[in-house]
Amino acid sequence: LLVMLVLVLGTGMALADLPATARLLALAAVALALLLGCQAIIRVFHEQRDLARGARQEAEALREQARIDPVTGLANRIGFDLALAQLAQNLAPGEKLVLMWMDLRGFKQTNDLLGHRTGDEVLQTMAKRIRQEAPPQAALARFATDEFLIAARVASRSQAELLATAIADAAAQPMRIAGHRIAGGAWLGAALMPDDAAGPGTLAEAADLALYHAKSTRRNAVRFFAEAMTRDMVRRKEIEADLRTALQRDDLTIAFQPIIDLESGHIRAFEALVRWIHPAKGEIQPDDFIPVAEETGLIIALGNWITAEAARIANGWPGDVGLAVNLSPVQIKAPGAAAGILAALAEARLDPARLELEVTEALFVEDDPGTAAFMHELAQHGVRFALDDFGTGHSSLRHIHHYPFSTLKLDRSLISGASSGPRSDAVIRAVAEMGQTLGMEIVAEGLETIDQVLGARAAGCTLGQGWHFSRAVPDYTAAMMLAEEAERRGAAVSPAPARKAG
Ligand code: C2E
Ligand code: CA
Ligand code: CA
Repeated sequence: LLVMLVLVLGTGMALADLPATARLLALAAVALALLLGCQAIIRVFHEQRDLARGARQEAEALREQARIDPVTGLANRIGFDLALAQLAQNLAPGEKLVLMWMDLRGFKQTNDLLGHRTGDEVLQTMAKRIRQEAPPQAALARFATDEFLIAARVASRSQAELLATAIADAAAQPMRIAGHRIAGGAWLGAALMPDDAAGPGTLAEAADLALYHAKSTRRNAVRFFAEAMTRDMVRRKEIEADLRTALQRDDLTIAFQPIIDLESGHIRAFEALVRWIHPAKGEIQPDDFIPVAEETGLIIALGNWITAEAARIANGWPGDVGLAVNLSPVQIKAPGAAAGILAALAEARLDPARLELEVTEALFVEDDPGTAAFMHELAQHGVRFALDDFGTGHSSLRHIHHYPFSTLKLDRSLISGASSGPRSDAVIRAVAEMGQTLGMEIVAEGLETIDQVLGARAAGCTLGQGWHFSRAVPDYTAAMMLAEEAERRGAAVSPAPARKAG
């Protein structure tokens, strides 16, 4: 504009001395220049406006992208938090907000085994199922690889429960992807606002805690938040902290419970059972702290110590007495697990053939090829395996065929527990018969009375363990029991010299 003004003024002054035609021409030129100048200005203005509009749209798209999970098209965590806040704000009186936190079962294995593309399809299938079950106004998200969040307004707790069950049932259906049959399944934790939480933040915490409890049941499970879960969490945190200290301070010991040959009555092996006497709180039961150790990964350090220490003690026993050690699934899944056990045996100079590792069927809940590799590697060195707690949970004969088990331990609930009786007697007989055919040892656990011992033997169990014979005892008592037995056996084999000496 300044340039044009100068141009007009300049031309005006210069024109005064020129003839009329020249003046006219000059004026026309100035007018043209002015027109062109204006056009240019308008063009620049339009360009600037379009640029600004494009940038705004791009920013909007980026913001949108930042809230959406590209794999499933559901929201991501950020998008979900925004939607959750809105749902929470618009809650009508008497209405509730349910938040469900879902974690897929076995997804990581599928992803590792069949590739990321198949993994993505599993996530997409799950997202589709959730969309189908959830009400239209629900907020849905996928984040942290295989976790889903579902938030919806509901009229009542029972409506929330129905919704959670419907979603879990849909997720549990198997699916066929790229020619593979993939098992479904998920854990689901849920919490309600205002019942369990005052705001969206605490609602998510409550749902997360409920999910954690759902997972500890190891089955497809839906759990709703309960007040007791908070107390339980506090207690677990306490156990975890105490256990770390105990490991450092050597507050843990190992007790040994004999496993008896039901035919000869001799000690065949000892099972190593960890013991923890807390300096202030007294004895803490393995059933209370082993699960905490498993969840926190502490079981790896603890388990390595138990195997090494038990092997060192077993090295002092006669060569025909075996050692049984419990192994938790978490230990087996740790990298270098088999090598670690072989190293512990070498260090203790214990023949691998004297070690029997006890595992439960929880190990097979997720069909992990690493499990078979672990077992076969150790079996090659002579280590044996026992299937522990058989008859609880999801017992399946498939596991006995697929994995190199040489021993089956019948859970004490079948022998002396609430579910013992004529029905379990039939189970024991059938299992013992199968064991005989397959050349397996069958151990009856929890033998507390002589009647139970005689019953187990009559049913075909080859070994027995329980308070009738002995509780788990300190290592020096175990050594004494072995010495006494050697003396008895010596006396039984050669009674004559003993009499001569007397
Ligand atoms: P489990 O492997 O089934 O061990 C047998 C449990 O039954 C032991 O309880 C033992 O003391 C108890 N028991 C033995 N005989 C009888 C009986 O006649 N009657 C009754 N009522 N109980 C009997 P404990 O020592 O409390 O161990 C509980 C569980 O904790 C074990 O069950 C095992 O799953 C786990 N555990 C114990 N020590 C270890 C360990 O060193 N490592 C791992 N990973 N788990 C362990
Ligand atoms: Ca055991
Ligand atoms: Ca057992």
